[in-house]
Amino acid sequence: MILLDGKKTSNDIKDEITIKVAELKAQGKKTPHLAAIIVGNNGASVTYVNAKVKACEKVGFESTLVQLSEDISEDDLLAKIEKLNNDDAIDGFIVQLPLPKHIDEHKVTLAVSPAKDVDGFHPENLGRMVLSLPTFLPATPYGIVQLLDRYNIETSGKDCVVIGRSHIVGSPMSILMARNTKVGNCTVTLTHSRTKNLIEYTKKADIIIVALGVPEFLTGEMVKDGVVVVDVGITRVEDASKKSGFRLLGDVKFDEVAPKCSYITPVPGGVGPMTIASLMMNTLQAVENK
Ligand code: NAD
Repeated sequence: MILLDGKKTSNDIKDEITIKVAELKAQGKKTPHLAAIIVGNNGASVTYVNAKVKACEKVGFESTLVQLSEDISEDDLLAKIEKLNNDDAIDGFIVQLPLPKHIDEHKVTLAVSPAKDVDGFHPENLGRMVLSLPTFLPATPYGIVQLLDRYNIETSGKDCVVIGRSHIVGSPMSILMARNTKVGNCTVTLTHSRTKNLIEYTKKADIIIVALGVPEFLTGEMVKDGVVVVDVGITRVEDASKKSGFRLLGDVKFDEVAPKCSYITPVPGGVGPMTIASLMMNTLQAVENK
């Protein structure tokens, strides 16, 4: 079993970006600038946004954090987004999800200019992805593709099962794995909460990408020997022995599944850091697109 080390791979990517940023600066060009909007102070969201800001500093980007109160109105949030759309200093920005219930996530996604949508959530960018046109790929699926690519995992002709059909992970992931690209050319089955006899699919799969947010959902008996497993799930569970008071669990019962795998991502240190690296790649791309 080989661990797909997202922490190391993301650091490799960040080192590559650091060199490119230094080159841009040496040529007197603009320093890439990523902004992040966060609404409220959900613990996990704050952690993710802070990690993104820290990654910007590491690669030499400029970053701006826009912190908004939990009770901001939808109109006021849309106005902030419009301001970032029109700010030439900002190359790309994200709106950290989830948003409070009174705000329509779709409206927010549509409000972000596709040229600055470095999370790759705008329908225009998703459409371009489906057509294999240049675009910002959604950050988490893009990170997974990078990880599989950099470990030279053969995907062509393989049976790939994706568990979870969210707009930000499962659905785009299923499309990327079926595309006619180096990482791709799989026969993909997209499964979800209404799938019957999931085990019949997972048992046959060569590659399983698990993104449902149910800790330790995928168990040893559900997979065959030699499978490649990518665990997207991150759930905080209380743990008094930890300084933070919680630990992170993935969607895979690691102790049971890992011994059967050819490759597997750990949680933490797998997909999470790759998502941030993708965001950095997309932001650099936004500058290069100008
Ligand atoms: P979501 O809650 O939007 O969607 C969950 C999906 O799982 C749904 O499509 C649902 O149909 C499916 N599902 C639920 N129960 C199921 C079952 N019993 N069998 C099969 N499918 C089932 O989830 P999301 O936003 O894609 O997030 C999934 C997990 O990934 C969460 O733990 C989230 O925190 C994590 N996540 C991690 C990263 C990262 O960078 N590592 C990024 C995004 C999300």
